[in-house]
Amino acid sequence: MAALDASDLRARVRGNVVTPEDEGYDAARTVYNAMIRRKPAAVVRVTDDADVMATVRFAREGGHPLAVRGGGHSVPGFGTCDDGIVVDLGSLRSVRVGPNARTVRVGGGALLGDVDHATNAFGLAVPAGFISTTGVGGLTLGGGIGYLSRRLGLTADNLLSADVITADGNRVTASADEHPDLFWALHGGGGNFGIVTSFEFRLHPVDQIVGGPIFFGLDAAADVLDFYRRHFPAAPRELGGFFGFIVAPPLPFIPEERHGEPLCVLVVCWSGDPAEADRMLEPVRGAGPVVAEHVGSMPYPALQSAFDGLLPRGLRHYWKADFVRDLSDEALAAHLKHGPKVPNVNSAMHIYLMDGAVQDVGPEETAFARRDARFVVNIAGVWRDEADDDPNIGWVRDYYDAVHPHSGFEGGYTNFMAGDDERRVRANYGESYDRLAKIKRAWDPDNAFRLNQNVAPAG
Ligand SMILES: Cc1cc2nc3c(=O)[nH]c(=O)nc-3n(C[C@H](O)[C@H](O)[C@H](O)COP(=O)(O)OP(=O)(O)OC[C@H]3O[C@@H](n4cnc5c(N)ncnc54)[C@H](O)[C@@H]3O)c2cc1C
Repeated sequence: MAALDASDLRARVRGNVVTPEDEGYDAARTVYNAMIRRKPAAVVRVTDDADVMATVRFAREGGHPLAVRGGGHSVPGFGTCDDGIVVDLGSLRSVRVGPNARTVRVGGGALLGDVDHATNAFGLAVPAGFISTTGVGGLTLGGGIGYLSRRLGLTADNLLSADVITADGNRVTASADEHPDLFWALHGGGGNFGIVTSFEFRLHPVDQIVGGPIFFGLDAAADVLDFYRRHFPAAPRELGGFFGFIVAPPLPFIPEERHGEPLCVLVVCWSGDPAEADRMLEPVRGAGPVVAEHVGSMPYPALQSAFDGLLPRGLRHYWKADFVRDLSDEALAAHLKHGPKVPNVNSAMHIYLMDGAVQDVGPEETAFARRDARFVVNIAGVWRDEADDDPNIGWVRDYYDAVHPHSGFEGGYTNFMAGDDERRVRANYGESYDRLAKIKRAWDPDNAFRLNQNVAPAG
């Protein structure tokens, strides 16, 4: 690897190039998870496709490692690196809605909140995740699970085309008609195949929803979990949401004496006919004695951002996740043992729904092959102080060790994988893996894009 010639790099791009000598370097190298403290040789705040192309070529010529940052939310910290070059897409956040065609063009560094804000003005939405500060780039390329998945599929299932800067520094557009293999790989294969500077998505009519959290005591947790596994998959697809073990935050609608107490929660999102909302949510309220609830009619982006405050930048994260075929009685017993030990108000265990429209897509139609999982379990350890690393990581690992044997799959959802989960990457993709590795060989034979849940080029 050649020493990085920052003046040469600066001469090739219009965006800001931040090196360790520059003011603002600490801010430029920092990603969302405070456990990640890497020191890149340069962070390039790209302004357009030409900057991305020039940076990729520069990195390849000099043999510099290349990290790509969209929203920077990757828990293993793939949006930064030691000694290499970070392509920071954070300036590419434009969103242009085409209300008649019901499509939207989204910059490769946009956040979910950018898209929700722009599309909600037209009463439209792209199905995405649960926290509005997450990057569209990483979320889409890994799949994209959220409130609307049961009704409208994964975020990736709604991708119509993508502008991709490839490993040789050129740009191609991938769609069902152009480079269909690459397009297939972008549906779940992560950042392995190139840098997407612009996504085009299909939009759907979603405006006001009825949603929010309903909290129950731990004494009802067995009933609530049992209700969740039976009721939600049988409910109309317009009912989305998730189950969680959480610690009650100090919010005014939760009785003060319960603040700080471990509880369980059903977060609901009814995106169907508002007149049907009460009838749909009544059984959910009957899952157990309700401790508190904060459910109401609101614009979809309001629910999308409702929990952002619990997860600001700069906390420490360690997560482990599984795809789950069925929530068996044994699995529930393991959840009931470990979930109530959730260590603090930022951590949580969530079980997301993966049925409905997600399962309308066949396992070979996209790289996201695991269409037979009905749930995703995510054990998210999140805390403030380095001194608390051991107990928090310990909670996640013990919990995971107890539930994983009951999941029915070796692999999990790529976007929730920990940095120490590399050996599970093949299993994440199941039957898609070998095809992904061949596509990788065609588009990135030298594995220039390797700072991710890596699919190595087929030999
Ligand atoms: C608080 C929080 C909430 C989350 N909620 C959800 C959720 O509800 N649903 C869900 O499905 N996932 C969720 N995730 C997981 C999330 O999808 C992943 O962390 C995802 O990688 C984040 O994307 P990013 O662009 O913000 O991350 P980054 O750290 O910027 O990038 C992550 C990976 O994607 C690649 N990448 C990013 N953008 C591009 C691009 N434009 N082109 C090519 N490669 C790119 C990067 O190289 C890297 O490998 C959440 C994560 C966090 C931390």
